[in-house]
Amino acid sequence: MAVLRLRAAAELDRLAVRSFRSSSSWWRNSETDPKAAASQLPLQRDVKDRNVQWVFLGCPGVGKGTYASRLSTLLGVPHIATGDLVRDELSSKGPLAHQLEEVVNQGRLVSDEIIIDLLSKRLEASSAKGLTGFILDGFPRTIRQAENLEGVTEIDLVVNLKLREEALLAKCLGRRVCSECGGNYNVASIDIKAEEGNPAMYMAALLPPPHCASKLISRSDDTEEVVKTRLRIYNEMSQPVEEFYRSRGKLLEFDLPGGIPESWPKLLQALNLEDHDDKQSAAA
Ligand code: ADP
Repeated sequence: MAVLRLRAAAELDRLAVRSFRSSSSWWRNSETDPKAAASQLPLQRDVKDRNVQWVFLGCPGVGKGTYASRLSTLLGVPHIATGDLVRDELSSKGPLAHQLEEVVNQGRLVSDEIIIDLLSKRLEASSAKGLTGFILDGFPRTIRQAENLEGVTEIDLVVNLKLREEALLAKCLGRRVCSECGGNYNVASIDIKAEEGNPAMYMAALLPPPHCASKLISRSDDTEEVVKTRLRIYNEMSQPVEEFYRSRGKLLEFDLPGGIPESWPKLLQALNLEDHDDKQSAAA
């Protein structure tokens, strides 16, 4: 009986994976080569005459959005954050909004079906504009999402950003967005003393310019209770995704040494991109 139930669940999973694959033309038409496991991390810019197809993984608060967005500007590829797609859907007050609001405000994950649908529409919109390549931020977050993505296109590189646990909660709680221009800031400065073999770490706050200062808002899911739930769910559901890519030789682990001024040049170095960006390093 138990075996049957397990087999039925596995069959459902298989069907669900198949139906995701056919749910959008992007998902159907994309280059399909799930067996293409890279033996080396392909860090160079153009892989097989197309733009990079990279993924950023990491816990809430680690700074995926910040670094993925900077790299997308540098490499001229779209930065696609599934969290932003979810927030756009919420503010559109469309048919999904009510359902998503409850899930997001509890710190839970949106269903694989919904998130894949939102992402595939976004990828189609990019292709329609003639854009190629992407840096995905916040996707995949479950093994099923990773398997689906692998079924439709080849990911060149997965950057796993890591930050000391003490800093993650404070960074989420310090996050602010300007309600007018959408600029992202962080009012938390992190100052961790050296102890038990761990070096000291300092991350300066990223303060807004005066014209944004009075218009700052926080995300409704950046409360202490919800962030703790998101961190727990990341460890349960998303850490296995790190292993998924590690076993395919695609995972680049990157420990953030501090704030943007310390981390950005080191990240570029790790990606063999340090020649690309004198301007952005200076501005960091
Ligand atoms: P975080 O700071 O937790 O990385 P995000 O902005 O990436 O936050 O995502 C916000 C919320 O959107 C998540 O807590 C989750 O509810 C939903 N979400 C985003 N991406 C995914 C995904 N790939 N799968 C399921 N839910 C997602």
